[in-house]
Amino acid sequence: MSREADMSLSLNARTRLLVVAPHPDDESIATGELILQVRQAGGEVQILLLTNGDNNPWPQRWVERRLRIGADERRRWGERRRTEVTQALAQLGVTGEALQPLGWPDMGITRRLCDQLDASVEMVVQCLEAFRPTLVALPALGDHHPDHGAAHVLTRLAVAGADGEAPRMLAYLVHGQEVTGKGRVKLDSSVGIHATKMAALACHRSQMALSGKRMRRLADRGERYQAVRGTSVAAESAVLPWQPSRLLQRWLRLTLVDERGVRQWPWRQAPLSMDGQGRYVLHGLDPAAPGPRFLKLHMNLPSPWIFDRWGWCEL
Ligand SMILES: [Zn+2]
Repeated sequence: MSREADMSLSLNARTRLLVVAPHPDDESIATGELILQVRQAGGEVQILLLTNGDNNPWPQRWVERRLRIGADERRRWGERRRTEVTQALAQLGVTGEALQPLGWPDMGITRRLCDQLDASVEMVVQCLEAFRPTLVALPALGDHHPDHGAAHVLTRLAVAGADGEAPRMLAYLVHGQEVTGKGRVKLDSSVGIHATKMAALACHRSQMALSGKRMRRLADRGERYQAVRGTSVAAESAVLPWQPSRLLQRWLRLTLVDERGVRQWPWRQAPLSMDGQGRYVLHGLDPAAPGPRFLKLHMNLPSPWIFDRWGWCEL
């Protein structure tokens, strides 16, 4: 028998929920019931939609029966998905004005984070300071979709840098294995609430056409969140959670991100050592750097596989 120590969530008319969604459909798959329950409790909801989900060629080829997808076709597909997310939100009791689209490049949030960190964080800060959420639902750092992990990093940096009382943060996982542990928050549900969520999901017709089964499977899980607690500690070095094969090391890169900026190294030039237990240790961290600090390990090779193999960790 599992011994789950799930935390509860109390929602009321003072709850102000901000959902950070990298793509249209994440809001329904991961947080549809949460959105609905905040609205039913009389609270407010806003959706920060980072991309229009326009870099989505296989569903587009399938639905539109065309092979070549150019810039115009992509833009049109993004507009279509924006319409779908508006329809989904209406099912969940949220009006179109609650949608804050940033129009960042789909499959390009990591690049954006690396190239325009301050400007990107500032856009999220502005949203936080204008809406003043009490609760932020954000993608899990360990989600295997690179846009999701990068969205977590940007949101955490923005929360750390925004004025006002820090909101409670709940991370949701769409792609990858759920990590069970302390701080898990489970949302109560009912047949009616779940049916409304699935009706919202069905509004994403462009996605349901090719991947309806997978989408329904993802959305059918009970909504569970991980309470976000900062783990960054002031230290000059940190043990890494990864043990990449020596054969791969020539293609690996490390990306370190904190409020001070972005630093990147090829693996073999990074300030690494090995400790007595055979673990890699990264040196040269600034113990005085404020706020959360994140590191990504990734392979610097073009690949048709979009998902992260190692991804991000918090140092
Ligand atoms: Zn997504």
